[in-house]
Amino acid sequence: MKAAYYGGSRQIEIRPCVPVTPGEGQIRVRVSHCGICGTDLHVYLGDLDHRIRLPEVIGHEGSGTVAEVGPGVTGFAAGDPVAVMPIMSCGQCPACRAGNYHVCHQLKVIGIEAPGAMQASWTVPANLVFPLPATLDLQQAALVEPVAVACHDIRMGELRAGEYALVLGGGPIGALIALVAKHKGARVLVTEINPFRIAMLRRLGLEVVDPREGGWVERVMEETGGAGADVVFEVTGVAAGAEMMTKAAKVRGRIVIVGVFAKPAPVDIYKIFARELRLFGARVYQREDFAEAIDLVAAKAIPGDELITNVLPIDELRYGLDQMATGGDVMKILIDCQS
Ligand SMILES: [Zn+2]
Ligand SMILES: [Zn+2]
Repeated sequence: MKAAYYGGSRQIEIRPCVPVTPGEGQIRVRVSHCGICGTDLHVYLGDLDHRIRLPEVIGHEGSGTVAEVGPGVTGFAAGDPVAVMPIMSCGQCPACRAGNYHVCHQLKVIGIEAPGAMQASWTVPANLVFPLPATLDLQQAALVEPVAVACHDIRMGELRAGEYALVLGGGPIGALIALVAKHKGARVLVTEINPFRIAMLRRLGLEVVDPREGGWVERVMEETGGAGADVVFEVTGVAAGAEMMTKAAKVRGRIVIVGVFAKPAPVDIYKIFARELRLFGARVYQREDFAEAIDLVAAKAIPGDELITNVLPIDELRYGLDQMATGGDVMKILIDCQS
């Protein structure tokens, strides 16, 4: 029974997990697996120190089974397989009242502003707990949260079957956007620079270009009869992606900002004007995206076995984070939270 705490400036401390008895409206989950996300890397590198109270248990991509149900909670019993939607909203602010609880003015992300999933036992609000089909493997179920991100991005971009999607950045989230978009009948081109990721995405049947080799704009134009991409997903979060995102979008095309830009980046505003482009931000997910993600993972629409390159014991979390920080040969890394 262990828990992984972030203690500031690249410090990960593995300590005994202290189970918290669920209070009114809470559920205690026996965590099976938790994915390491780019957000966890930002935490590890200290980028989110202004949001986190140290030390804190990190992780927000948890799957598991119900261990204990708090007073007033109905519909769940010990042993039920579950995934947790790790965002807490206030319910009172203008965004929440308008139904946009996922961008609540006081949004708290579990694993940053509240204790996260990288521990053997995790107590969370019951309204964030989603039941899983009994047939769904709990290791695969750790992909539900990032798949929900992809579902939300695609919904925000209004991508339809038969349309052409350009995905800038083929890390775990870019890969999932591409796979879900293809599953929904879109034609997809991914740009990525990491050779390991390029090879993996190609093995998964995706079209991939390394933008440093040039010619990618011409390719999009050629494949769309000179029109350009219907939807561009910016998933890099860096200036190069911001520069690329307006280059190959069609007239009245949509650009979805998925990447988390740590600092402002130059954007070709003129192209947005000249082609009447529409720009969307897409942050986390809403309940319908989470439900759709569970269906997609349960239907094996996501090649989880290929995407999950490592399953590490909790003691090796730091190694996993370092692999991500240095661009190692990894795609999705999971932590075995019962190890
Ligand atoms: Zn995540
Ligand atoms: Zn709110």
